[in-house]
Amino acid sequence: MTTAAAPRSGAPATVLTEALTCRAVHVTFGETEALRGVDLHVAPGEWLGLIGPNGAGKSTLLRAIAGLVPHDGSVTLNRDRRPAGTDVALVPQIPILPEGMTVAEYALLGRSPHLGWLAVESRRDRRIVASVLERLDLQRFADRPVTHLSGGETQRVTLARALAQQAPILLLDEPTSALDLGHRDAVLDLIDTLRRDDGISIIAAMHDLGTAARFADRLALIDQGRIVADGPPRRVLAAGRLSTVYATPLNVHTVDGEIVVLPAPRSRQENGP
Ligand code: ADP
Ligand code: MG
Repeated sequence: MTTAAAPRSGAPATVLTEALTCRAVHVTFGETEALRGVDLHVAPGEWLGLIGPNGAGKSTLLRAIAGLVPHDGSVTLNRDRRPAGTDVALVPQIPILPEGMTVAEYALLGRSPHLGWLAVESRRDRRIVASVLERLDLQRFADRPVTHLSGGETQRVTLARALAQQAPILLLDEPTSALDLGHRDAVLDLIDTLRRDDGISIIAAMHDLGTAARFADRLALIDQGRIVADGPPRRVLAAGRLSTVYATPLNVHTVDGEIVVLPAPRSRQENGP
C-alpha cells in the first residue's frame, strides 16, 4: 500500500492507493450465469472503463467487487488483502434514496464504514462532507430532501456520498447517464482530477463508447458474462468486434482526434458491417 501524493485540489488527503485483482469471478442468479470467470487487474490510479451491451454483466461485476453479491473466485487488493468497507465506494446505477433525509445527511452516510461502534459522526466527518459538496457544486442543496432533486442533481449527490467515503477504489455504474453534456464532462473531469491528485483507481461502467475512450486508460469489453477484449481504447474499439458484440453494424471514426462510434449508414447495412 502506498500513500498518494498530496492533493492539489483541496480534498482531504487520507486516500491510500491500491491495486485491485479479480480472479475467475463467477456469479449466478438462479439459472442465469451473469459472470462466467472474470479476470481483471486495475493498477493504482488507473481508470478502467467497462463497456458492453445491456445485460452483459457490468453492474454485476461492480457489485461483486463491492461485495454486494455472492461470487466464486476472488477479489483482492494489494498483497491479496480482501477489500473492507472503507476500501471500495460504489455509485450504483439506480440509487435508493431514503425519504426525509437531506442531501448533507445522505452524503454523511458515506462516512459510515469509518465510524466506530457508537456510529457517531465527528466534526472531521462533517468537514469532509462539506468539502465534497463544495467540490460537486452542491452546497446550495445541502438542506434539501434527497427525494426533491432532478435526475442529474441526484446523480451528483450519489457521487458525493461515494466521495465522502474516501475509498481508494471508486466504482461507478453509468455515472453520467442522467447528466446533460456540460454536467457530464464536469463530473467526469472532477473524477479524473481525483484520480490524478489522490491516486484513486476508477472502474466505471460507461454507456457511451466515445466518452469511455476519452476518459479511461483502458477498456474492458464484457459480453455474456466474459471479458472479450481488454486494452487501450483504440485497440478494444474495433468496428468488427463491436458490431458482433452489440449485434448491430457499427463504424469507428476519429473526429478531432477523439474516437466516435456510430451506427453504420443504413444504406450499407444490407451488405453487413
Ligand atoms: P449490465 O449492467 O451489463 O447491463 P447486469 O450485470 O445488470 O448487466 O446483468 C447481467 C445479467 O444478470 C442479466 O442477464 C441480468 O438479467 C441478470 N441479473 C442481474 N441482477 C440480477 C438479479 N438480482 N437477479 C437475477 N438476475 C439478475
Ligand atoms: Mg448495468
